[in-house]
Amino acid sequence: MNIINILNKEFHDKDDIIALLSISDESELELLRAKAEEILFKHTGDKVFLRGLIEFSNYCVNDCNYCGIRKSANVGRYTLKMQDIIDSALWSASQGYGSAVLQSGERRDEAFVDFVCEAIRNIKEKTKSVILPEGLGITLSVGEQSEETYRRFFEAGAKRYLLRIESSNQDLFSKIHPKEQSFENRYRCLKSLQSIGFQTGTGVMIGLPGQTIEDLANDVLFFRDNNIDMIGMGPFIPSADTPMNAEIYPWDKERNLSLALKMIAVSRIVLKDVNIASTTALQAIKDGAREDGLRFGANVIMPQQTPQTVRKDYQLYDGKPFLSESLNDLSIGLRIRVESIGRKLALNEQGDPLHFFNRNSKF
Ligand code: SAH
Repeated sequence: MNIINILNKEFHDKDDIIALLSISDESELELLRAKAEEILFKHTGDKVFLRGLIEFSNYCVNDCNYCGIRKSANVGRYTLKMQDIIDSALWSASQGYGSAVLQSGERRDEAFVDFVCEAIRNIKEKTKSVILPEGLGITLSVGEQSEETYRRFFEAGAKRYLLRIESSNQDLFSKIHPKEQSFENRYRCLKSLQSIGFQTGTGVMIGLPGQTIEDLANDVLFFRDNNIDMIGMGPFIPSADTPMNAEIYPWDKERNLSLALKMIAVSRIVLKDVNIASTTALQAIKDGAREDGLRFGANVIMPQQTPQTVRKDYQLYDGKPFLSESLNDLSIGLRIRVESIGRKLALNEQGDPLHFFNRNSKF
């Protein structure tokens, strides 16, 4: 079947998705992009939602084979002071960001869970009514936790959670993680988050060693079958101080970038009303790739709001842009960049994923 016929289908099966992800011809790629944009406008509109990303700690109990802040990586460890986290959130809110993402390495101890709950409560309290009636929206990205912990985070006021499945292929998942980390547990975590009532986000790395186009097609089906509300995915980029460094796994930048853009477009076409982030890892491969992500169907960007002093210690992968974007970019550069591709920056809006409400109204 030709690409136009596949693009015009209402429902896409695995073969359709594989065909779309396999596009290499430039004019077909433009057809794919244009379709993703059409569906984006129809289902979610032209707005680009902002989340201020606050990477508040790089301590981690996990040893993921790909990650630059894994437990055994040799990096200076930090946890931001509560006041620094609050200041970053207040700064984000004053710039018109409707939401913040609190992200860190993984810890499950009581002191950490208390600290995160306190940070959520502080941010909510200090931004409520001052900036937005409901306060800054808060998304957490602090890994695998118990159901009880997730519940505490929710009660403290976080309403969204990002936990990438990394790959829906269980064999591949176990190749890139130490045996202490299981696919089953990560999946259980996603289900707990959904049952508690979180707007739930997941995603994968694209271009992992050994990953096939069929794996990626299955990832898109995983998002659909599991009723995921938000997608954050990006190219795999080797990190020097890890077992999956570029010497052991030479990588093809251009391929990973183009596959990542196709994954965004296909996810938009198949999932329709979800939020999809155009992630930092895209930008790390090529300046301007974040705007490309938006052009291919993403509707969320997450500019870093982590204080400059610690950004160099949150290098998940090589070449992560940590100095290039100034904190006041929002008022000048970012707006121009977003408007130049025919989109609008949504200021002072939380930007909930419509899918969350659509799926809940079906019952
Ligand atoms: N500890 C938290 C969040 C921090 S890591 C968690 O595990 O959820 C956030 C994401 O960065 C990971 O889910 C992973 O998909 C991505 N990441 C880590 N190392 C990467 C690499 N080398 N290339 C691309 N993405 C990477």
